[in-house]
Amino acid sequence: MSPIHHTATGQDAGRVLVLNSGSSSVKYQLLDMRDRSRLATGLVERIGEASSRLVHTPQGGETRERTGRIDDHAQALEAAAGELAADGIGLDSPALVAIGHRVVHGGLRFTEPTVVTDDVLREIERLVPVAPLHNPANITGIRTARALRPDLPQVAVFDTAFHRSMPEHAARYAIDVETADAHRIRRYGFHGTSHAYVSRRAAELLGRPVEDLNLIVLHLGNGASASAVAGGRCVDTSMGLTPLEGLVMGTRSGDIDPAVTFHLKRVAGMSADEIDTLLNQRSGLVGLCGDNDMREIRRRVDAGDERASLAFDIYVHRLKKYIGAYAAVLGRVDAVVFTAGVGENSAPVREAAIAGLEGFGLAVDPERNAVRSGEPRLVSPAGARVAVAVVPTDEELEIARQTFALARD
Ligand code: ADP
Repeated sequence: MSPIHHTATGQDAGRVLVLNSGSSSVKYQLLDMRDRSRLATGLVERIGEASSRLVHTPQGGETRERTGRIDDHAQALEAAAGELAADGIGLDSPALVAIGHRVVHGGLRFTEPTVVTDDVLREIERLVPVAPLHNPANITGIRTARALRPDLPQVAVFDTAFHRSMPEHAARYAIDVETADAHRIRRYGFHGTSHAYVSRRAAELLGRPVEDLNLIVLHLGNGASASAVAGGRCVDTSMGLTPLEGLVMGTRSGDIDPAVTFHLKRVAGMSADEIDTLLNQRSGLVGLCGDNDMREIRRRVDAGDERASLAFDIYVHRLKKYIGAYAAVLGRVDAVVFTAGVGENSAPVREAAIAGLEGFGLAVDPERNAVRSGEPRLVSPAGARVAVAVVPTDEELEIARQTFALARD
């Protein structure tokens, strides 16, 4: 690639590359922010293994797949850049104005998307002890992209940022204050980019300013979190110091009595790492019934499988508890909004989570709930006091939007 980059000017300058770097994967999307179209999307996975795989889909084109060892994130990004160049939308184009990075943990400092400087990078590194699984990969992604295009703004968009508006009484755990502060133990919340985007889109759907609305947002993907959003600001959320707290998830337990962990150590002889793996990877739906895909769980429920039925009921029971809790936190609820893989696609989960909540003014209309669509929509009966809505999330678009806004300043 030529080391000389042209300055982006005029009409062409509207592309943003969004990178979501995990420990062994990189997801990328190239968006044109003039019309918000996706020029290409892709994924490099199993980085560092012999069986690395790159899957790349250009807008309106065929998906291409390549397998073969990709050593590290730098090679992954080079490979992605090669695919984009082959489509005539290479990363050396003057139309590319910024690179946006999903960064999981922004700690207390980052309440907004931030242009990455050396100082910002150091601060993200300082947060590694509270996000050991995520921040190191995010940092690698930023360094790699910076090396590729040092002339471009790299923007960090934090999963925690939206939740920094939580009042202290929601963010603090009731443990010894000195110990908590010494180790930065508090509730940070995650999926913030999604909660923020979905809140705004829900307000558009309802035709009211987000400032006037009290929303309960349920982001139900493989990871899952609920948030209470008052006037567009998060006032409580279910994930805490790490993404383990709160709802039952695909592989994570969500809320448990913390004494379970001492018990596992003292009585079952498990190490901290083993308990971590148990609660993060072998619990939740997969721990309860062996499956974490809601489609498969529903198929088993419909076939009369008792373990799958119990797993489904536990999942829904937890959801209901959070809806009730956040209704109390908010005092008045205007809408309950479902999003992410399960929330957008699983009519049975929505129906079961709302069933019996008529006392809160909540109900689901079976016909509306059965509609399959990629568009924001209401699933509550016409004229319901509280809306129940499905709003597809789009974290990449939101990261691109925030990145573009900063890059233009
Ligand atoms: P991630 O947290 O990995 O971003 P997603 O938001 O993509 O997850 O959600 C993935 C989950 O969504 C799957 O594990 C599956 O349980 C659920 N899911 C996806 N499609 C459907 C569907 N059609 N019906 C029910 N559940 C679905």
